[in-house]
Amino acid sequence: HLERVGFIGLGNMGFHMASNLITAGYKITVHDINYNALKKFSEKGIPAKETPCEVAESSDVIITMLPSSSNVLDVYTGRNGLLHCRSHLSPWLFIDSSTIDPQTSRMLSTNISKCLLKEKKGFANNPLMLDAPVSGGVPAAQAGTLTFMVGGLEEAYLAAKPLFLSMGKQTIYCGSSGNGAAAKICNNLAMAVSMLGVSEAFVLGQHLGITASTLTKIFNSSSARCWSSDSYNPVPGIMEGVPSSRNYDGGFTSKLMAKDLTLAVSSAAEIGLKCPLTSEARDIYMELCEKGYDSKDFSCVFRHYYSGKQT
Ligand code: NAD
Repeated sequence: HLERVGFIGLGNMGFHMASNLITAGYKITVHDINYNALKKFSEKGIPAKETPCEVAESSDVIITMLPSSSNVLDVYTGRNGLLHCRSHLSPWLFIDSSTIDPQTSRMLSTNISKCLLKEKKGFANNPLMLDAPVSGGVPAAQAGTLTFMVGGLEEAYLAAKPLFLSMGKQTIYCGSSGNGAAAKICNNLAMAVSMLGVSEAFVLGQHLGITASTLTKIFNSSSARCWSSDSYNPVPGIMEGVPSSRNYDGGFTSKLMAKDLTLAVSSAAEIGLKCPLTSEARDIYMELCEKGYDSKDFSCVFRHYYSGKQT
């Protein structure tokens, strides 16, 4: 019973994800606070609503794809939010694909569970919210090849799998509520730190007289090989088709990386865990954003963070 899908948040990612669901034959209703984002759908005859609440009234399932935790809370618990619309709650499943902190996901999931129980919907005491952040970026959203990392009740995950596979190529069940969000921020923290490590090694190597292309060959056939060296090399001219070879345009912005690292830092602080590399990486990406490189791909750390002469 997941025919009618309400999609909220039609930005860089959400626009393509909602479009792929339409192509797959789902009955979509959309909402965004940005009128232009909404117009792209209403012009095609897709029902576009002014509030999340109105979307909820005509949907079996809601998908949100919003910038950050505060936007997600607005859409769920704010005025005209999904949980405050009428006494009757229509959707029985809520999926949040935004990258937010696991604590907020878990709190929302509990609230939704309470609302659904009041409505006598869902399974006894089991929250029917899934946190399902994605990996892959805008090109993958467009091509329908995203990877979904999903936390929440397994039955709900299985019911939603066809939806995920209309927007992506892979889904990974991560366990209970908030675990999808946790997986996403851990992935991005490892990616940030490996990008910084590789970039720093290239800078030092160049200053010691070894070229980036020689060092790349060595890394890629030695123990330093990683995604940042063999698939997303940060040094301009080493690889084709990656952001470093087009002035760091396109790709995953430093601003989003700073946001994700901030989520990781606060999640670690909340449980009293020491994560020094995460804090350092967060500070470096914040500094890059302050210097004006917020919209450049995060691999621009190679060119714009380290001082001294570089290629
Ligand atoms: P975006 O800023 O392009 O789009 C967000 C959309 O949400 C905008 O259209 C905005 O108007 C809308 N919005 C904001 N607040 C709203 C509200 N209260 N009610 C209704 N609509 C609201 O962001 P994006 O790049 O599409 O990213 C969305 C999420 O996906 C983020 O959490 C991001 O971290 C994550 N993500 C992004 C990428 C990427 O490469 N862009 C990759 C993986 C994950």
